[in-house]
Amino acid sequence: MKPDNYTYTSPYIEELLGYTPKEVIGQTFFSLMPGEERARLLTIFKDHIKKQRIFSGIEHTNLHKNGNIVTLESNGSPIYSIEGQFIGYRGIHRDITEQARTKKIIIEKEIAEQANKSKSEFLANMSHELRTPMHAILSFSNFGIKKFNSAPPEKLLSYFNKINQSGERLLALLNDLLDLSKLEAGKLEFNFRLFELSLVLKQCIDEQEAQLNEKNLRIKFINSEHNTQAQFDTVKISQVITNFLSNAIKFSEQGTTLSIEIKADELFSDAGISNGLCLSITDQGIGIPDNELDTIFDKFIQSSKTKTGAGGTGLGLAICKEFIDAHHGRIWAEHNPEGGSIFNFVIPIQQSQKN
Ligand code: ADP
Repeated sequence: MKPDNYTYTSPYIEELLGYTPKEVIGQTFFSLMPGEERARLLTIFKDHIKKQRIFSGIEHTNLHKNGNIVTLESNGSPIYSIEGQFIGYRGIHRDITEQARTKKIIIEKEIAEQANKSKSEFLANMSHELRTPMHAILSFSNFGIKKFNSAPPEKLLSYFNKINQSGERLLALLNDLLDLSKLEAGKLEFNFRLFELSLVLKQCIDEQEAQLNEKNLRIKFINSEHNTQAQFDTVKISQVITNFLSNAIKFSEQGTTLSIEIKADELFSDAGISNGLCLSITDQGIGIPDNELDTIFDKFIQSSKTKTGAGGTGLGLAICKEFIDAHHGRIWAEHNPEGGSIFNFVIPIQQSQKN
């Protein structure tokens, strides 16, 4: 019997899910859940099992025998054999369907309000992001026109450089918008091929060398000596890494360290468990408040710590999430216990045949 199979349930299970204890024993905790929920819970439990932690107050949806969705809250403690081997959990489920329904209505209302607010903030940010480089292009080209005969060549070169940088900034913004609209229309193509993730990472770091040097940031590689081959779209994944890196640089203090790691990991999905590669970038920067770690991946959202004045539109991470979703992977941010943030993604080593 596997650790997640029911070996005992009280008769109360029939009231909760419509099944008799006899029907439930032998099934896994996850087999009585809808597909998507199964993958979500497996991801949560993998972590608990690995760390041999108790779980408390975990909410999940289950399928009642009559087809209805029931929300349960589960609490449980791990049990170990005499030899200390993890053999399963002992715990209880509680029906919280009604509370969950009320909570969902409140959350949906908050999300709608937040979406409205985000849109206004986005429009304000976007006008700023468009206007600033546009102004720079117009003023420096004007200087150039006026001083064409009188200014020394170095001065003219500095004008050209400023015009060029602003043009690049505008192009990056327009590319983000274009990617997003193509993603939304399902028109962005993905070209999956077998490649070394560490090579793509190296190239992204090389491209950011000037920005890293400017802030005197040190890169520390953790656990870098292993196979990092996987099937992925090199262009899209390098865009994700570049976005992680440029944010880490942007939100770090001078002279701090960015730690970068690629390691083997697992992914849980409807189809089961698959092997993956996890890339993490840890910075010692300003960090992200705990309650915003998920929302920063939404379109147009910036964390409350950086909303004022940091620049940016809040599109980069939303695009990264879409890219990683298209790879059937997982992307998330964490709090760095030593201060700062950790940005991670896992992609499967092999893409399914469907791609
Ligand atoms: P942008 O940086 O253009 O605003 P992103 O989608 O890349 O857009 O990032 C969204 C927000 O997430 C940022 O504005 C910032 O508030 C927060 N963020 C991203 N990376 C970090 C980081 N490494 N440290 C702190 N905050 C971050």
